[in-house]
Amino acid sequence: MKILVCDKLNTRVIEDLSKIGEVIDISGNEKRGMIKDEIEDTSIVVVRSSTKISKDLIESSKELKIIARAGAGVDNIDVNAATNNNIHVVNAPLSNVLSVAELTVGLILSVARNIVPANISMKKAEWRRSEFVGIELFEKKLGLVGFGRVGKLVAERMLTFGVNIGIYDPYISSVEEPFIKFESLDDLLVSSDIVSLHLPKTPETTNLISKEKLDLLKKDAIFINTSRGGMVDEEALFKKKEKKEIYGFGLDVYSKEPPEYTDDLLDTTGTTLPHLGASTVEAQLRAGQEVVENIKRILNGDEEIALNTLDIK
Ligand code: NAD
Repeated sequence: MKILVCDKLNTRVIEDLSKIGEVIDISGNEKRGMIKDEIEDTSIVVVRSSTKISKDLIESSKELKIIARAGAGVDNIDVNAATNNNIHVVNAPLSNVLSVAELTVGLILSVARNIVPANISMKKAEWRRSEFVGIELFEKKLGLVGFGRVGKLVAERMLTFGVNIGIYDPYISSVEEPFIKFESLDDLLVSSDIVSLHLPKTPETTNLISKEKLDLLKKDAIFINTSRGGMVDEEALFKKKEKKEIYGFGLDVYSKEPPEYTDDLLDTTGTTLPHLGASTVEAQLRAGQEVVENIKRILNGDEEIALNTLDIK
């Protein structure tokens, strides 16, 4: 059975895949033409986020049984085309929640203390500490929008900073102390010092944080989004920052990726803009191992479990 690996995977994952079939690893190559040539007689194709598996590619293959995404989102795979051709799509939705929660904490600290602009300034041999005076987190109000896996991990970690944590998640009935449940998003936005999004992108949440919602934030609020792009009016957010109507923001995801406007903002006090949520050694290893397990389950006839993983983007 031929297994085509298109993006770089941990060597331990390659070893595990080699026990299932013959691995052809084209991750180090210029892939575009190669995938088309190789996919024709491939049974399993494994990708991370950078390889796009289009309808054309899917339809050009004769043997393909499984498309495995070593990570959470499956936006780079034409899932409909795969389903129509009886090809299973599996992913690894749990692999990176810890990494993204830790990055969220990092973004909050980075924005609060102006770590990125101060670092840029220091590397220019400047000595301008007075321009980067930050704020402490202790006794601030942190508002989490969405309280699933990532939201809970962020909340547990942020408690150690002595923040008060409010939750807005209309799909959970209650939260345990010391967390406080908000019944309205507006109330959470108005009263929080730091707002962080941890919800899925759905038709309901697309553009959820509109200009009107952003205008509810405190003038010295910090806004964080490590969920998905397209839930926040980024233009309105940037304008608020320019007009000093917000303390700062940290984003890991963008409406358009890669975004086109980061250069100016990176040098601006109060903004931190990586794209690193799942980019840790541990998350990438876990993602590979999780998809290998899902591949094995499908090969053993356990189709239900593998397809269920797609519910989580
Ligand atoms: P999850 O499904 O465990 O939790 C999402 C929570 O959001 C649920 O509790 C749900 O009830 C709540 N929710 C749904 N609609 C809501 C709404 N309108 N208002 C408020 N809450 C709402 O998901 P998760 O694993 O915690 O992931 C959270 C987000 O983080 C997802 O968008 C995921 O794609 C993203 N993520 C990003 C990265 C990254 O690399 N930046 C990595 C992993 C996950």
